[in-house]
Amino acid sequence: MLSEFSLISRYFTRAPREDSRADLGIGDDCALLRPAPGMQIAISSDMLVEGRHFFAGADPRLLGHKSLAVNLSDLAAMGAQPVGFTLALALPAVDEPWLAAYSAGLFALADQHGCELIGGDTTKGPLTLCITIFGDVPPGQALRRDGAQAGDDIWVSGSLGDARLALAGYRNEVALDAADLAAAGVRMHAPTPRIALGLALRGLAHAAIDISDGLVGDLGHILARSALGATLNADAMPAGPVLRKQPLALRRNYCLAGGDDYELCFTAPPGLRAEVAAAARQAGCEVTLVGTIDAAPGLRLQDDAGAPLALEIHSFDHFSTP
Ligand code: ADP
Ligand code: MG
Repeated sequence: MLSEFSLISRYFTRAPREDSRADLGIGDDCALLRPAPGMQIAISSDMLVEGRHFFAGADPRLLGHKSLAVNLSDLAAMGAQPVGFTLALALPAVDEPWLAAYSAGLFALADQHGCELIGGDTTKGPLTLCITIFGDVPPGQALRRDGAQAGDDIWVSGSLGDARLALAGYRNEVALDAADLAAAGVRMHAPTPRIALGLALRGLAHAAIDISDGLVGDLGHILARSALGATLNADAMPAGPVLRKQPLALRRNYCLAGGDDYELCFTAPPGLRAEVAAAARQAGCEVTLVGTIDAAPGLRLQDDAGAPLALEIHSFDHFSTP
């Protein structure tokens, strides 16, 4: 049986990157990260627990991708440039094929973003993957949740709802053919963190958040922190390509409250629409205008004609959702 230390050196220790910001990486009591002169360090942690965030038996390569992707997504939502991360792992047993696939998925995404694994912790326990990520952002330029202003446009990146649709497909709540389930499943298992967009929105967006628990719930965090309200056009939502084939009610529901999208929701002044579109082009990512920030508190939903919609929206909450 592989020891804890040979496991770490075999699967998680690599040569430092040429552009490494770690003066000391894995192997000592702490890693030593060199701060970039004049930058703030953005820090975030996200944990994935088997049976809670992913099914038992889930593909380990995809888990490697997703466990880092959800953390990168938080940096994207802050407008931060990824630098490094730590990995705290609880493993029920030493399963070498699992570890090889997990670390391959993890490092493939890490390399895409020049983000280095600099430390972590490894213990026996129910399968849990916890990453803490570090990024750089110039002071005053972070895309905080509390910066929205009345009159701002509300934008979302990419497309929404396909991850939620895949879940419904796996649960047999919606009938999907194999090709559709596979396509929607990619959105659920392998989200794309919008790092380039987050960076391009520095100086343009007033506020941003990544959509992990559903647009309505996550936009609600911007509204709460900014002490404002909003009006959303339920019919302007960029439904994912698979969801687009589903009935209107399901499309609206999964776009507004689906969860697991890992797209960005951000606000920007209407005077900057051309700049926002240019930033999105530069980042290679679509953005869609879906609503307006209002001075009046509360969230109002409308259809395309401006008629009010009363939709039952339940965003995901680990402690209030059974
Ligand atoms: P400590 O006794 O201080 O907790 P450990 O013996 O747990 O340190 O870890 C030894 C080294 O290996 C440390 O540098 C730690 O950061 C690193 N490490 C442990 N687990 C992981 C992991 N899953 N991924 C990356 N580095 C790890
Ligand atoms: Mg330890």
